[in-house]
Amino acid sequence: MTTTTTDVKALESRYVLQNYKRLPVVFERGSGTRLFDEHGRAYLDFISGIGVASLGHGHAGLAQALADQASTLSHTSNLYFHPLQGELAARLAALTGLPRAFFCSTGTEAVEACLKFARRFWHANGESHRTRFVAFRHSFHGRTMGSLSVTWEPHYREPFEPLIPGVSFASFGNVSELETLITSATAAVIVEPIQGEGGVRPIPEQAARAIAAACARTGTLLIADEVQSGSGRTGEFLYSPAIGLKPDLIALGKALGGGVPIGAAMLSEPVAATIAAGDHGTTYGGNLLACRAALVVLDELERGLQASIARLSGRLFDGLTALRARHKSIIDVRGKGLIAGVDFSMDASPIVTAALDRGLLVNRTSASVIRLLPPYVVTEQDIDEGLAMLDDAIAHV
Ligand code: PLP
Repeated sequence: MTTTTTDVKALESRYVLQNYKRLPVVFERGSGTRLFDEHGRAYLDFISGIGVASLGHGHAGLAQALADQASTLSHTSNLYFHPLQGELAARLAALTGLPRAFFCSTGTEAVEACLKFARRFWHANGESHRTRFVAFRHSFHGRTMGSLSVTWEPHYREPFEPLIPGVSFASFGNVSELETLITSATAAVIVEPIQGEGGVRPIPEQAARAIAAACARTGTLLIADEVQSGSGRTGEFLYSPAIGLKPDLIALGKALGGGVPIGAAMLSEPVAATIAAGDHGTTYGGNLLACRAALVVLDELERGLQASIARLSGRLFDGLTALRARHKSIIDVRGKGLIAGVDFSMDASPIVTAALDRGLLVNRTSASVIRLLPPYVVTEQDIDEGLAMLDDAIAHV
């Protein structure tokens, strides 16, 4: 095993595709809300691997379950039955109100599956001309050709064009534009109930109402991308119901596996009824290891973790509001539960570096926004400590 930062960097720069801009720190282990670098220095993790490590790091119950599962059976493919997929699907059906699950390994794949299932639905219903998608400005849905096609940020899309045709981007603030774009040629509208990568922007309720109304008027399917906002992050399992959205398809990922890659597309019965054997699939999707991890996460949410998020969220947002009052450079604080965005009147990257120097992990998104996605096991004391470090980092910058 390589041990020094220099070795790690040298190997990576020689052999790993240089598509990520990493911060200069090498993490070797984690415990709860802390990560430890190769010198043993502790960092308070307020980003949890971009919203993934919901149970924090080195969670004893998750580690035990994974060790047990790995020594029993990890993977068999979707050629055969195993005991955990149905169990997980039933739990997710109860939590989301959508009765069928398709399992995959990432959020992007969950989105991709939702887009394909929407197209398949119209094709099966004799309306194969209904192929268009409506997405939103500032959206992020992933990097595969389909999910990229509905991702707004032009610099992600342009080098890979032509992408799938027939995608329009609407803005939340313009209800009449929404009504014009969502027509009887639209297969589906895809929306993040809280835009994560786009700067932590919850959908305004008026826009959510307009989306629901336009979908109802035209019969258009609604896809909620809850990859970042779902799986408990906002204090509820999903954020869609809070804003009155009733999706036909939901994409899940990130926090669902607590660090083990798993994604899921949840389908309404009418959509599920149009998918035939062989229409879609993946080798890894819903393997035993991933399902076992997700079951542990759901158990923990039910055992009180979900309920604690509202209390923790109060502490987090009170603290952020106080920060906003102290720093003129903060122009907005947005979010819900344990997803927060602090919007600055300037590029926020120097704050990420200053926070790292102080032992706090956050990230920048959408140029001016510091995003906080702490693990669900964060404590009030962690929140106070993290906000004090953020305060100091902002003051320094
Ligand atoms: N959808 C949303 C809302 C996301 O935030 C992300 C990732 O940030 C994705 C999809 C893609 O997920 P993944 O990176 O797991 O493929």
